[in-house]
Amino acid sequence: MVVVMSADATEEDISHVVERVESVGGSAFVSKGVVRTIIGLVGDIDSFHGLNLRTMTGVADVHRISDPFKLVSRQHHPDRSTVWVGQGEHRVPIGPDTFTFIAGPCAVETSQQTLEAVEMAKAAGATIMRGGAYKPRTSPYAFQGLGEEGLRILADVRTVTGLPVVTEVVDARDVPVVAEHADMLQIGTRNMANFGLLQAVGDAGKPVLLKRGMTATIEEWLMAAEYIAQRGNLDVVLCERGIRTFEPSTRNTLDISAVPVVQAKSHLPIIVDPSHAAGRKDLVVPLSRAAIAVGADGVIVDVHPNPEQALCDGPQALLGSELRALAQAVRQLPPAVGRIS
Ligand code: PEP
Ligand code: MN
Repeated sequence: MVVVMSADATEEDISHVVERVESVGGSAFVSKGVVRTIIGLVGDIDSFHGLNLRTMTGVADVHRISDPFKLVSRQHHPDRSTVWVGQGEHRVPIGPDTFTFIAGPCAVETSQQTLEAVEMAKAAGATIMRGGAYKPRTSPYAFQGLGEEGLRILADVRTVTGLPVVTEVVDARDVPVVAEHADMLQIGTRNMANFGLLQAVGDAGKPVLLKRGMTATIEEWLMAAEYIAQRGNLDVVLCERGIRTFEPSTRNTLDISAVPVVQAKSHLPIIVDPSHAAGRKDLVVPLSRAAIAVGADGVIVDVHPNPEQALCDGPQALLGSELRALAQAVRQLPPAVGRIS
């Protein structure tokens, strides 16, 4: 931490800051410039936060130098992590040594629609299936998902296909039942900063897929991951799914640079959701290629056996030639960038 004194700070103001830092066992290194003095603090950063240094007379500003997240930080955990999803022989890794393709319907609508979508996904090379039983919809009049019935359908489709299930939980009260049926719990963009829900999934004992809030900075997103990690659950996979910008051509703007930025700061795996980023199926394949090229640890993509009839996000669901092109990309490109798919 660095304390910047104002130009008119007195010697007494500087001594007060030094004394306050030393009172909690820290060291203060004073560096006098022509106009301003800066004071470098060394010691336990948490104890400095309680000192309210910003409010002291003569203090102009206080800057943090190290990241505010700890458990998810790469600083103390230089090796990138692998998170395993599923049970026994069906366990699938997500991490730096592989590339994981997750696909399935946006929403679970019927058993047949879910099974058909997941069979398509599996045939295209997917090794984990997605599908929402609890849908966070902008409108309360839109299809909200089948709830527990949807969870049972997902579990049945897992029995048939062998693919582990990732599905969203939108309410802390539903965490136990979702954890009972699913292999991985998804926190959607609208709930990234729902701290009670983050703590509840942190306690659930299952891996978590944490989507980036659509207006969240990378630091806020990693702090959300820290909430989960702080409950003892380090099996967290981050998912970049686009952020809100002024550009209306796509539903969200895929922040592709978030992938290497996150990988430099955190040891957690990071995947990309090109479907929810673009909101249009014609961009899903090019954005998936971009995700692979930039070093993402996987992609998660919407597929539907009949997108025109989909109850949720039909325009972005893949089928036919786009799905074949995606299958080719996820098979061919990861080895070309040094990943064993
Ligand atoms: C989803 O994956 O079904 C979903 C709702 O995604 P997001 O939270 O990124 O909008
Ligand atoms: Mn969706």
